[in-house]
Amino acid sequence: MNKNNAKEINSSAVRPPVVVVLGHVDHGKTSLLDVIRKTKVADKESGGITQHIGAYQTEVSGKLITFLDTPGHEAFTAIRSRGARVADIAILVVAIDEGVKPQTKEAIKIIKESGIPFIVAANKIDKEGTNIEKLKQELASEEVFVEDWGGKVPLVSISAKNNKNIDELLEMVLLVAEMEELKEDISAPIKGVIIESNLDKRTGHVATVLIQKGILKVGDWIVAGAVMGKVKMMEDFTGKAIRQGEPSQPVRILGWSSAPAIGVDVVSVDSKDKAEKLAEESAKATPLFQAFKGLNESGASKKTLNIVLKTDVSSSLEAVEMALSAIKSEEVGCRVTFYDIGNISDADVKMAIGSSAEIIGFKVSIDDSVRRMAENENVKIMIFDIIYELIEHIRKETEALLEPEVSRKDLGKMKILAIFKIDSKSQIVGGKVTTGSVKRGAFVDVLRNNAKILSGRMTQLQHNKEDVSEVQEGLQCGLKFEALPGQPSWDIKEGDVLEVYEEEKIQRSL
Ligand code: GDP
Repeated sequence: MNKNNAKEINSSAVRPPVVVVLGHVDHGKTSLLDVIRKTKVADKESGGITQHIGAYQTEVSGKLITFLDTPGHEAFTAIRSRGARVADIAILVVAIDEGVKPQTKEAIKIIKESGIPFIVAANKIDKEGTNIEKLKQELASEEVFVEDWGGKVPLVSISAKNNKNIDELLEMVLLVAEMEELKEDISAPIKGVIIESNLDKRTGHVATVLIQKGILKVGDWIVAGAVMGKVKMMEDFTGKAIRQGEPSQPVRILGWSSAPAIGVDVVSVDSKDKAEKLAEESAKATPLFQAFKGLNESGASKKTLNIVLKTDVSSSLEAVEMALSAIKSEEVGCRVTFYDIGNISDADVKMAIGSSAEIIGFKVSIDDSVRRMAENENVKIMIFDIIYELIEHIRKETEALLEPEVSRKDLGKMKILAIFKIDSKSQIVGGKVTTGSVKRGAFVDVLRNNAKILSGRMTQLQHNKEDVSEVQEGLQCGLKFEALPGQPSWDIKEGDVLEVYEEEKIQRSL
């Protein structure tokens, strides 16, 4: 029990719900978070704030709701990858005109695995000709049964663009939260989770902690994975300096020894010594960027796509890390040879040259001079604003490294009737096509007494002394046969049968 509690311990107090917004790209997640932020965060609080710290709070009917506010929701994914439960409720945004899409399904899977309740926000009702019943049916196919389809999942039709039914959606969030009975646990020791982390040029390493239990105060010693810190300064989501933070509150903290990783738990200890010790222990136990390490170690003989990765904030780095670790193949892989936060610089280009890598940026920029340098050195640079597109790009490039699948397509057979000419490398023979057809350039297996004795290609084909590209069943033809490299130097003889086939190369996918 913490004697320094600033608050009376009140077992009936509830903490605000923490809400995450998930859904397919372009279905309106950002618009929804923006419209709530703009219209529901009291003016006195917002004070024209522009900074995103990974979360914000809004007040509805006198109650607070915390929204995780990371565009693209990299943070949530990264946090989840570490098994931390951070959100209490999810809002699944589905654009009515598009319905259930791949990332909608992905989001449903994530939500179900997290075991948290969720609400469907059927967005873009302002659009003409939308069909909500069709959407409900599509959701049912994914085993999401909304209330009037015999299920329990609430559905609210909204227009994030026109600010329609947003209040109804927020009231629904409160209703679901009420049923969850989220207790405010302020007497417990501090527990929180890092939801954003970056380097501020002025103030050093800054990270947003979502407090889950206890009251965090200025001056506390804290540890987040391998990183320790002393809360030098704490701000609420509006940038206002505060002395203490409560459960479900996102607070921006200055005073870290280096950048804490997204999704890592935060705890407080009562001395610097203990903080150092704990940080050291977890440094040994949980290497940062485990997946990158895994990728880097995996099979040196594999064909790999080398990448220099630069992102705006560490949550993006982690989201990429996670997505890349899902690209699994025995034969090919991608290897992050260098990663960092910040814009693409000439040092990155040099790094890319050194490791034969391409540079991938996420929400970063590049100077013209650096771009010119990269062009001169033939270093490929790709910059993305949407994480999904970045991952797809890497997946495609990695896929292209896979050897294509070769499948044999039988064309026909012919019987050898005459041998015209033999030299060291080739033979000119004549015969009759008995089934199918034969084609110039095709592969040939030579069979004698039904056993294959030789493989090669027919490099020339003639019918009635004229060069032709194909000869059909029943016709006679002459051809030049060249054995494939490494084949025994057998001669084709009268009576041999040629099996003629083509090879089709099919690009495989991961
Ligand atoms: P996100 O990728 O899920 O974050 O989607 P955005 O919020 O960026 O929205 C994608 C596009 O859909 C943007 O062009 C928005 O203006 C548009 N959009 C979002 N909500 C609505 C809506 O309620 N109605 C209409 N008509 N368009 C919307």
